[in-house]
Amino acid sequence: MTHQSIFNRDIKSHPVVTDARTSLLRPAYLLLISSAVVLAFLLWSADPGPAEATRHVSLPLSIPAANTSPAEEVVSSRTDNIDIEELNALSAPAAGTETTEGNWHEVTIKSGDSLAAIFSRLGIPPRQLHDLLEQGGAANNLKKIYPGQTLRLMTSDSQGLVKLTYQVDKLSTLEIVHEGNDFTISTTHLTPERRQISASGIIDSSLFVAGQKAKLSDNLTMELANIFAWDVDFALDIRKGDQFTVLYEELFLDGESIGHGEILAAEFVNHGKRYQAVRYTDASGKTDYYSLDGKSMRKTFLRSPVEFSRISSRFSLGRKHPILNRIRAHKGVDYAASRGTPIKATGKGKIVHRGKKGGYGNTIVIQHGSTYSTLYAHMSKFRSGLKTGSKVKQGQTIGYVGSSGLATGPHLHYEFRVNDAHRDPLKVKFPGADPLNKKYMDDFNAKAENLMAQINTVRDVQLARAN
Ligand SMILES: [Zn+2]
Repeated sequence: MTHQSIFNRDIKSHPVVTDARTSLLRPAYLLLISSAVVLAFLLWSADPGPAEATRHVSLPLSIPAANTSPAEEVVSSRTDNIDIEELNALSAPAAGTETTEGNWHEVTIKSGDSLAAIFSRLGIPPRQLHDLLEQGGAANNLKKIYPGQTLRLMTSDSQGLVKLTYQVDKLSTLEIVHEGNDFTISTTHLTPERRQISASGIIDSSLFVAGQKAKLSDNLTMELANIFAWDVDFALDIRKGDQFTVLYEELFLDGESIGHGEILAAEFVNHGKRYQAVRYTDASGKTDYYSLDGKSMRKTFLRSPVEFSRISSRFSLGRKHPILNRIRAHKGVDYAASRGTPIKATGKGKIVHRGKKGGYGNTIVIQHGSTYSTLYAHMSKFRSGLKTGSKVKQGQTIGYVGSSGLATGPHLHYEFRVNDAHRDPLKVKFPGADPLNKKYMDDFNAKAENLMAQINTVRDVQLARAN
């Protein structure tokens, strides 16, 4: 059994602490749970796991202050401002208990059930549900209920709905009080404890398999891939022996893992080329992943693949094709330029097509990491030495303007695709692609150094085990 599944099972079988009606808060129970968690950790740490996967847990005490942004202080206690007595006071008594105010009902939502049906079964006038949902804001969470979740409702003959509590997720509970025609809506938030966890793996068959061996959730593996998606084509360009190392936060409530937080730093080695990224939030609140020289991991593209040109036809989803003479979408931008004008790759990447391509004539398609691709059509000729599989740099000349294929005159037809969907190259945005502001560099360097030291340690241990 993996570390992950131990905790997942615990989460399913025990409601989390917002539910103070359960015996979870009794000291004996707490002791039992925390012992079980400690035991799980011990068992797990005693087992070094498969040679190609290592994982290391740092206890919160060892988290250096430099690793947290001002907005995300490490919280060592379970909750921020709510103590157990307050939770008890907030919480509902057991289902079915008579109180002076009304009756409590606990409803586990079943597949096909609806709020309207639940309210109706409890004899609450439909008007009250309507009025409640009209409140908007946090009440909108009630529109997202799903099977297996629990609603607790207090009703009375005179008032209909009196109170409702709903645990929106592991960290927040919605509470609604209905008095007269007024609804008081509040949400209680718990602050999880954050622990730094590092993992490393060497790819044998696929990134996901290696991620699982390193005990990363598929979600986390996906997030790791997304950080490097501009540099590495995870669909086509992953090789046996590629290696990753990641330092991330795991969130805990009362010693129970409730899932992972953010990736703090990561490294990916693809074909022997090392990419490193650090998450950083600057003093203005902007967060991004940066390479160690402060460049955003998210690359931008050159706006135009040709100099000395004018745009002769824009991106549109319906225009009359000048040669076919019928309405056709124009899923690119045409740049009119004289024959022989150099065409530049708008981003670094790998040529995945070089040759004739139907009406496009001489065409090059470049894949940029996992997400983006660009297409350059109607070339008079290709730059010599380029072939399918060649790597190109941003701004590198790849060919020359011409009118091969279906073209009325010399121009470059340029397309930009995001996950294979055509996008307007003149409008597509790359948020966060700006480099780090220089005034934050010193602070960034200090934090990056600390995080990368941890990455280096974990990777070196990993490599030592693999050899
Ligand atoms: Zn065109």
